[in-house]
Amino acid sequence: MQELSVLKGIGEVRLRLFEKKGITTVEELVGYYPRDYEDRSQTKDIADTLPGEDVLIMARILTSVKENRIRKNMVIYSLAAGDESGIISIIWYNNRFVKNAFKAGEEFVFFGKLNPHSRKKEMINPIYERVGKERYTGKIVPIYPLWDKMTQKILQSAMSEAIKNIGTVEEYLNEEIIKKNRLCDINFAIHNIHFPESFNAFKTARTRLVFEELLFLQLALMYNREKNGKIKREPFGDIKCVKEFLKLLPFEMTGAQKRTLAEILKDFEKDIPMNRLVQGDVGSGKTAVAAAAMYVAAKNGYQSAIMAPTEILAAQHYESFCGFFKNGDIKICLLTSSIKKKKALYEQIKNGEYDIIIGTNAIIQDSVEYNRLGLVIADEQHRFGVAQRARLSGKGEGVHTLVMTATPIPRTLSFILYGDLDISVIDELPPGRKPVSTYAVGESMRERIYSFIETHIKNGMQCYVVCPLIEETQSADLKNATDLQQKMQDSFPDYTVGLIHGKMKPAQKEEVMAQFANGDINILVSTTVIEVGVNVPNANIMVIENAERFGLAQLHQLRGRVGRGAEQAYCILFAHGSGEVIKKRMEIMCKSNDGFYISEEDLKLRGPGDFFGTRQHGLPEMKIANLFCDRAILKAAQKTAKEIIEKDPTLSQKENDGIRKKVGEMFKEDIILN
Ligand code: ADP
Ligand code: MG
Repeated sequence: MQELSVLKGIGEVRLRLFEKKGITTVEELVGYYPRDYEDRSQTKDIADTLPGEDVLIMARILTSVKENRIRKNMVIYSLAAGDESGIISIIWYNNRFVKNAFKAGEEFVFFGKLNPHSRKKEMINPIYERVGKERYTGKIVPIYPLWDKMTQKILQSAMSEAIKNIGTVEEYLNEEIIKKNRLCDINFAIHNIHFPESFNAFKTARTRLVFEELLFLQLALMYNREKNGKIKREPFGDIKCVKEFLKLLPFEMTGAQKRTLAEILKDFEKDIPMNRLVQGDVGSGKTAVAAAAMYVAAKNGYQSAIMAPTEILAAQHYESFCGFFKNGDIKICLLTSSIKKKKALYEQIKNGEYDIIIGTNAIIQDSVEYNRLGLVIADEQHRFGVAQRARLSGKGEGVHTLVMTATPIPRTLSFILYGDLDISVIDELPPGRKPVSTYAVGESMRERIYSFIETHIKNGMQCYVVCPLIEETQSADLKNATDLQQKMQDSFPDYTVGLIHGKMKPAQKEEVMAQFANGDINILVSTTVIEVGVNVPNANIMVIENAERFGLAQLHQLRGRVGRGAEQAYCILFAHGSGEVIKKRMEIMCKSNDGFYISEEDLKLRGPGDFFGTRQHGLPEMKIANLFCDRAILKAAQKTAKEIIEKDPTLSQKENDGIRKKVGEMFKEDIILN
């Protein structure tokens, strides 16, 4: 590994800028892949350029640069240039650097977009280079995802330095794998993923990198599974006691809940730790299943812990559990970062005074020690990284691990991606649930929708209004949310409109949720913080603004917040834009309440190049592979991984040295290769 500072052109300021993205070494930089490419390899004649097109032209400067201040803070610089086929005007906004950059008669290349609205040839804000001195044109140029003050130019030139600097890399996949899967060598891949010689070369490079990323993922999962399968533990002696728990429940479990519970209990009887994923749509009743499993653990003399992604959710679990176990023979505690007197609590947990510990990721901190920990549960596991899951399991030796998720992953994918887990599916909702009636509407319906809401609030019901989420600009999200609260308050002057968002302190959030839960707030405007788990049965309308900006899986999750009571529930999707895909997506939401169906359809509608959405599905974050579009490569990688693990389950043979090292690097904390 080499520090980034060895590269030419990288000083203190840039070092810190790269550090913000977690890039501190040359190798890490080389592993930062482009999101797109621009073909700046071919010049076009001016006469052949089209409005709206990104093109490279080579032209002679015909005039000096004209400066035109059109208002305060807005200066337009322009010049005319020409080739044998025609003349073009070139325009920059507020770019004073161009003022003295050109002299009539000189030859330059320009790369930029032709004004889509002008019949005249006009190029806007192009990059330019003197002919003969090209560095950023004359080739296919990578476009990287940017952050903070990073620019394409800085990244591109840093990358080209980095590639020069690492020189020739030693191939780490063995020859057999390369041949069998017709992969290119790693050096070709590195060069051509960043600076492709042609689009075919890019494709070849990408295939290799996707393959190896997926191979390493599969290997890590399979390796973990092998290893876990070898750990022995004492089986639970008494699982029949679950019957007592079922009597404590205020309802009869559904068939799917019972089946899932039976699968868990069977695991408890084995002498190896359980590793099970429970997938169940929102409202399918995963909490009761978790509580049953924890009850059995307690009756067998083991502590258990459940981790929820938010404080609100942890608090709700705590309440539900208090309800289930109100006779007091099972001792429960709540542990979140805002709980006071933690020291005393830690002491009590360590002494075994509690059977069940409920909390947020506070429960996996180093300072928490358990007493005969036998079972850990991660609720809404897609909110946690693989590393957190591993830390939770690592809190005891050979503990049973249960992870639960409401994010339906199509069965075909979940099998491959959670290769280290057994899977149970709760595919049935408790009886009497009415499906949420869902409508997609346009702006013209707003008044009617509002009077619909008013009628319901008059009758004592409550309403959620969810704001669009704009990725990675949290302050903008916040403004949206506050604006929307104000607007709603203006539209509903007789009622109380509350606000909850991700930037609020946990205590504040809880207070707002409590006010909503006891009816002091009629309408709750929210960013997506309410997404998981929250239970307010009296809220039966959900309005989602800019629904087109959400993934279907997420819309479905959000919708799951309503329809938890006896009343018919409604979900109103305000969708903008008239694209076919948007229409189709909204149709699916209106038509179906089945999370699995929705996620399958969602996948079908995703075009290639839609790299967005893996996180929403709780799939591991990939650097280059697209789990939806690269399924064929995924299959091949899985096959290869199987062959490798069968021959060498601990990856300790010499021929797997390279792979072993890479897998270790990729999953630093998550798996410990030994
Ligand atoms: P999720 O799977 O989304 O976590 P919950 O466990 O929060 O769902 O359950 C949703 C609601 O359904 C809760 O109010 C719970 O008490 C109730 N519930 C769960 N199972 C049943 C059942 N078998 N019959 C009736 N109500 C149930
Ligand atoms: Mg839940």
